[in-house]
Amino acid sequence: MALKGLDIFKLSPKKNCKECGSPTCMAFSMKVAQGAVSVDACPYFSEDAKAQLNEATAPPMKTVKVGAGENEMSLGGETVLFRHEKTFVSKTRYAVSLCSCMDDAEIDAKLAAIPKVDYERIGERMFVEMIYVNYDAASGKDKYLELVKKAAALGRVLILGCDDADVAKEAVELVKDTKPVLNGANASNYEAMNAVATGAGVVLGVQGKDINELYDTVAALEKLGNKNLLIDAGSNSIKDAFATAVQFRKAAIKDGDRTCGYPSIVRACCLAKGNAHLQAALASLFTMKYGSIVVLEQLGYAEALPLYGLRQNLFTDPQKPMKVEPGIYPLNGADENSICVTTVDFALTYFVVSGELERSGVPLNLIINDAGGLSVLTSWAAGKFSAGTIAKFFAEQDIEGKIKSRKLVIPGKVAVLKGELEAKLPGWEIIIAPNEAVQLVKFMKDLTA
Ligand code: SF4
Repeated sequence: MALKGLDIFKLSPKKNCKECGSPTCMAFSMKVAQGAVSVDACPYFSEDAKAQLNEATAPPMKTVKVGAGENEMSLGGETVLFRHEKTFVSKTRYAVSLCSCMDDAEIDAKLAAIPKVDYERIGERMFVEMIYVNYDAASGKDKYLELVKKAAALGRVLILGCDDADVAKEAVELVKDTKPVLNGANASNYEAMNAVATGAGVVLGVQGKDINELYDTVAALEKLGNKNLLIDAGSNSIKDAFATAVQFRKAAIKDGDRTCGYPSIVRACCLAKGNAHLQAALASLFTMKYGSIVVLEQLGYAEALPLYGLRQNLFTDPQKPMKVEPGIYPLNGADENSICVTTVDFALTYFVVSGELERSGVPLNLIINDAGGLSVLTSWAAGKFSAGTIAKFFAEQDIEGKIKSRKLVIPGKVAVLKGELEAKLPGWEIIIAPNEAVQLVKFMKDLTA
């Protein structure tokens, strides 16, 4: 909850010495409350006062980090309930579930399927980021530990689903350097599980037979000093899991209840009970409401394409244009003699156009202009994609020094630029492309036939 200037003033040293750059402690406190200056700018705030301020001004939901190296990812840290209020900051991560109750053939088939989903959409890599490895006591410890090793070999972040602290300790020990999640603390084992998780420095997932028990167990773990936690929405029923995910998030964001302010894990695979269509619907639901990790039975292209598209729409910052780096992109083995095609740096335009141009198989240099991340017609209307800006960009990038071809294809929607461009880029032949990207394959083939 935001602190008022007066609350901060009560904790201030009240020396009015001006060393912080403010004329009085009151003025300084007002600036701190507005977020214009850090409390550290005053050398006289006591450590105790700073600790109180940090606690009071901390975000309502913790950001938890899992994974190591290039696999490190943040979960949580959200400040709003709805996407239209402000940007969501930590996208939902998807895991595929394995269990030591499965036979070897089933495990191998699932492990082999995981790397198959791996593609890029608008500059974002879409792939299975996590693997949930569930412990089945009846199958024994050794089989579980072997499964953990096998899953770890795939190089994804592991979630170790295990509520036996002794087995969990051995499993965590095998992969602790990769910073997995240990999921399985509950009302009866939380002290032992806490010792395992804190000893290895990994995030601990907390479960409860109902929402009240879950809350009490989280509170008990906080009392033990552990705030590196995940809330498991549970597998009793879809209704309970949804209520847990929503109520914990609401209590954290709206009521400032920090005990509820942790990222969540939703085991959609358990809730769907083998129904693949229901699982797909649940994955979408909990991407929106409020799964930080969603665990699925399988994630092939049929599930991934709509799900990752939904995630990208939800977790993209609408205030930042989606743009790619302006410059020259040689495609299909192009060299300095290859024809040039130009368009804007709006990411969607780039990926659609470059995809079609690649499909044409024609070697070409795709020149991406700095158009402020706007689409062709919008940037043209805003004066950011005109004959003048294109000619200026060509000069800044020394296109004529880098490319010998003097043929330039421009988007069909700005055909009106042809005459002025010919005047500003003397020696260049300006060619007008079709209006739609889908027509580019035939157009480029005909043009260079
Ligand atoms: S440096 Fe600290 S004590 Fe001095 S005026 Fe600023 S807030 Fe007050």
